[in-house]
Amino acid sequence: MQNSDQPRTEINTLGEFGLIEHLTRGFENKQANTIKGIGDDAAVIGDKDPVTVVSTDMLVEGIHFDLLYFPLKHLGYKLVVANLSDIYAMNATPKQITVSIAISNRFSVEALDELYAGIRAACENYNVDLVGGDTTSSQKGLIISVTAIGEAQKNKLTYRNSAKPGDLICLTGDVGAAYLGLQIMERERQIYLSNPGIQPDLEEQKYLVGRQLKPEARRDMIDVFAKAKLVPTAMIDVSDGVSSDLMHICKQSGVGCFIEETGIPVHQDTKLMALKFNLDPITCGLNGGEDYELLFTIDPKDLEKTKLLPDIFIMGEITEKSEGLKFHTNGGRIVDLEAQGWKHF
Ligand code: ADP
Ligand code: MG
Repeated sequence: MQNSDQPRTEINTLGEFGLIEHLTRGFENKQANTIKGIGDDAAVIGDKDPVTVVSTDMLVEGIHFDLLYFPLKHLGYKLVVANLSDIYAMNATPKQITVSIAISNRFSVEALDELYAGIRAACENYNVDLVGGDTTSSQKGLIISVTAIGEAQKNKLTYRNSAKPGDLICLTGDVGAAYLGLQIMERERQIYLSNPGIQPDLEEQKYLVGRQLKPEARRDMIDVFAKAKLVPTAMIDVSDGVSSDLMHICKQSGVGCFIEETGIPVHQDTKLMALKFNLDPITCGLNGGEDYELLFTIDPKDLEKTKLLPDIFIMGEITEKSEGLKFHTNGGRIVDLEAQGWKHF
C-alpha cells in the first residue's frame, strides 16, 4: 500500500478531530440543497421547509464496548439512543434509522435477536422506523453502525457555530454518571476475570450503571423548547464530555467561555462514587462522556423563558474569543478549561 520512501504519519499525531479535518479538507459542497455538511451533530439537507437532518455513528467491539459486561440488548438500545441524541442536538425530531452490522460466526442468531430487541425497544420508545441497513461478516468482533434521519423547521435548527458573546451556557440533567457507571462495570470485570465464580453486583449502583447501560436521549427538551418558544443560539449533545463538547461550540462559533464549578450539575451518586474511586467529581462531570445531555447557549433576553423550565442548569457565559476558555473553581481560581474527551487512537 505504501511506498517505503514516503513519510509515514501516525494517526495519533492528529487525534480524532484532527484526522476528520485532515481527511475531509478539500471537499466542497456543490449541491444547492446541502445546507450544512461536515462539522455538526448532523448534516442538514433540503430545498423546502421542513429540512432533513442526518447523523451516523459506529460502535466497534473492544473499542466502544465489551460484551463481557455489556448485554447485547442494551448495546442495541444505546447505539440508537446515541444517534437520536445527535438529531435532538439539532433541535430536530428523528423519524427513521438504518442499521448496519458486521458479525463473526462467534454470534448466534439468538445473540443477534437480543441486539435487535434493544434496537426495537429504542425505535418504539422514540417513535422512529427502522427502514434499512446492511449485513456483512467480520473476521472477529461486532461492528454496528446506525444512521438516523430526522426533520426540523429551518428556523428552529441549532448549530454549533452560532453562539455569541453574552449568551448563557446551559446544560440539561447531570453529567459524569455514565463515566462512573463504566468504571464500576470495569471494576466488576476485573473481579470476574480474576475469579469467574463471583457474579458482578451492579444492583447497588443502579443509577450510575443505568446511565452507562441504558442512557436516554433528551427528546423531552425538544418539546420543552417548542412550548417555551425558545430556540437556543447553539447546541450540541454531550457525548465526549462537557469540556470537549463546549470546546466544539466555542471553536466553531469563534468565541470564548467561562463556566463556574458550581454550575456543573453532578448527581449525588456520581459524587460519592467518584470519591470512592479517588477521582474528582467535577473532573468526572467535565470530562466523562456518554451523558447524552444537551449543552446549549441562549440569548440572555430568553433567560425568563428558561427560568421555569425543569432540569436546565446555567453553567456560565460565552465570552469574546480573546478571553479564552475558562473555568472558575469554587476556591476562586480561574483555570484554563481542558478537554480530555475520548481518545480512540
Ligand atoms: P458526534 O460526536 O456529534 O457524533 P463527530 O465528532 O463524530 O460528531 O463528528 C464530527 C463531524 O465530522 C460530523 O459532521 C461527522 O459527520 C463528520 N465526520 C466524522 N467522521 C467522518 C469521516 N470519516 N468522513 C467524513 N465526515 C466525518
Ligand atoms: Mg453529537
